Order: sequence, then structure tokens, then C-alpha cells
Amino acid sequence: MATASRGSNARASDHVREDRLWQRHMDMAKFGATPKGGVNRQALSAEDARARKLLGQWAAARGWEVFTDPIGNLYVKRPGTDAGAKPVLSGSHLDSQPTGGKFDGTYGVLAAFEALEALDDAGIRTKRPIMAVAWTNEEGNRFQPGCMGSGAFAGVYELDTLLAGTDPHGTSVKQAFAEVLEAAPARLEPKLGFPIDSYLEAHIEQGPILEATRNEIGVVTLIQGMRRFYIDVFGEEAHSGTTPLKLRKDALKSACSMVTALEPLMADPTDTVRYTVGRFEIYPGSPSTVPSKVHFLIDLRHPDLATLKRLGDGIAPICEAEAAKRGCTVKVTEYTTVEPMPMEANAVSLVRDSAKALGMKHMDMVSGAGHDAMHVAKVAPAGMIFVPCWKGISHNETEAATARDLANGTRVLVDALVALANR
Ligand SMILES: [Zn+2]
Repeated sequence: MATASRGSNARASDHVREDRLWQRHMDMAKFGATPKGGVNRQALSAEDARARKLLGQWAAARGWEVFTDPIGNLYVKRPGTDAGAKPVLSGSHLDSQPTGGKFDGTYGVLAAFEALEALDDAGIRTKRPIMAVAWTNEEGNRFQPGCMGSGAFAGVYELDTLLAGTDPHGTSVKQAFAEVLEAAPARLEPKLGFPIDSYLEAHIEQGPILEATRNEIGVVTLIQGMRRFYIDVFGEEAHSGTTPLKLRKDALKSACSMVTALEPLMADPTDTVRYTVGRFEIYPGSPSTVPSKVHFLIDLRHPDLATLKRLGDGIAPICEAEAAKRGCTVKVTEYTTVEPMPMEANAVSLVRDSAKALGMKHMDMVSGAGHDAMHVAKVAPAGMIFVPCWKGISHNETEAATARDLANGTRVLVDALVALANR
């Protein structure tokens, strides 16, 4: 339909339409819209079903096949010229945090869809099919674990175990997915996972670096690793009016000293270590009772595996030494372990070259947050493209990005996708 402005060298990125991409974000943001301008669209909810249905309608208008797999990942397929060639995938997720924004995840799905539309408009055929994908339950809020759909696709999790998981109201993943299928029908492909050539994911940065350095594109080289720990500190309940300080086994004061004593271990002149205590619970929580138990969580992240190991392994001995000083005991339980996941060298180069060719200011960077790409990277060469978001704010109803930045990321995406799909 549109004329190729560069003759036979039509560049797909020239056909990315900023206004169309922006409007699609606004259309999607209606599903689960919150009064403060954010989005509450939890995985496999009625709102999620509406978003999936709309994506399916857009795909149908282009004549593209839409199908879903047994964990609910939704695929839109633009065929290639070689029917037997493995597809190139691109996407992210449509689910949000309960007080999420319009762009986290949704951008990656809509950028992939815009890439397919730009290819159609440019009249470009690729050898391999290219598919846009919306992975199920990336956020891990309503159902655990997060990155459920991409993890299942990559064989990290077992399907039956995931389907049996329930939300806080007792609704299972299986039941919620059945309801989604009824509200937003799509052909169900019975087999989970299929061979793919490669994967690219576009995402808002969710951090402040691109904006602060005035870069338009982040070329993701690695998704950093993460270790999470439950720390349970046990002391002894006592009357706060009668028990002398010297005779107490105060679990709270012990826990506080642990948090402080860990600071020197986590100290890092390069400011690369991410050490967070994001939950702190005190029992029994009475003003007249010396705390007998404290439960707190440590989230530790680092791009380097050896450093992540050394720092994480250093937590228990320090906590034990602090507990002993007050006659308390402590139990340290690691409940999440994710190793750093490098993006594939060729995919990284393609993204970088694409940004360079389009004259966009870009930088290499590490992803501080986890993404679906970290699972897909286990089964295929994968890369990620970041675009700036306002003040780096994300998982927040005020999350914002400019139409221009979103379109620029999509331009980089589509040219890199074409390179992958024609090799
Ligand atoms: Zn996300």
C-alpha cells in the first residue's frame, strides 16, 4: 500500500508510524485504567482478556494468524517466504502490576506488532516468519512465579504445576486461562514451546540512566542476576516494663543490627551492587512486648555471577554473628536464584548497528530488572532494546514515555528483526 521510498532498498523503519503506535498504547491503557492514569491489568484477568482480544482484532484486520499455547502465550504470525524456516519472535507482556503504568510490557508487544505493520506497509517480505508475542503473567503478582509464560515456553517450569497454581482467591491458572479463552477466543495450539530462530524484546528502561545521559536507545548486553532471601530472627517475648535490657533477647534490635552489619559487605565504590530490604515484619507487634520474631526479605542483584555468589554467601555468617550477640537465633533461606543472563553477541550487535544506522544516540547497558528475555535466552539467541521512561519511574501509575522514544525503539527493533529474519 505505502510506496517504498528507497526503491528496492525499502527500509522497514521508515514505515514505523509514531501516531499509530501511540494510539495503540492509549487503546490498550483503557483495559484496567485506574483513576490516577495507570493500569491494573493483572494476568489472565477480564482486563487482560480484553487486551488480548483487541490485539487479535488488529491482527485479523491484517489477515495474520493468531494462536495461543497451553499457558496462554499469545502469538501473531506474519508469514515468511520460506515456510519451513524457524520464526523470529518479538514481544513482551500485556499484564501489569496492580498499580502499574501504560508502558511496562505493553510497549514490547505493541512495538513488535507495529514492526509487523511497518513491514506490511513497506511491502517487505522476510525469509523467516516474524511473530509478535504477548507472554503470560510476567509480573508475578496475581499468580506465581513471574515470567510464567516465557519460563514455560523455555522449559524452565513444568506446565501442570503452573496450571494448578492459584491466586489469593483460589482461582487456578487453568481456570483463569479457560475464562480468557472464552472471552478472547484464539486457536489453541496444544503443544507448549516450538523451535525459534531468535528473540528480540523492546521495553521501557524502568530506570533513569537513558534519560540522564540523553540517550535514545539502550542496547542491553546482559540481564543482571538476583538472589532473594527470607531472614527469620528469633528472640524471646518479654514485658517491656519489667524486663531489664540486659536480660532481653530482642529480635528487632538483632535484625536491625544485621541490616547495618551487612552494609560494609555490600559497599561498592562502583555502585553496581543492588542490596534491598523491602519487607520487615515484627511480631507480636505490641508496644508492651519485646519483639520475639522478625521476618525480613533481602533482594540482592549484581551483573557478575562470582560477585553475586560471594555477596549472597556472605549474608548468613554475618546474620548469625549478629544474632549471637543478643542471644537470638536466625534462619536464612534463599528462595529465588537467578543467574545473570547475557544477551547473545550477534543480537546485541544487530541492535547496536540498527541504532547506529538510524543515527540514534545509544549506549550499552545492563538490565537491572528481570524480563521475559532472560528465559527465552535459554532456548534461542536473544537481545533487548531499552527506551527512556520519564524519571526512570516504573511499576507506578505515573509511568510515562514519549511517543517519539517509543517509535525510535520500534524503528531499531524492526530493522534488527529484518536482519534476523533474512539471515
Ligand atoms: Zn515488564
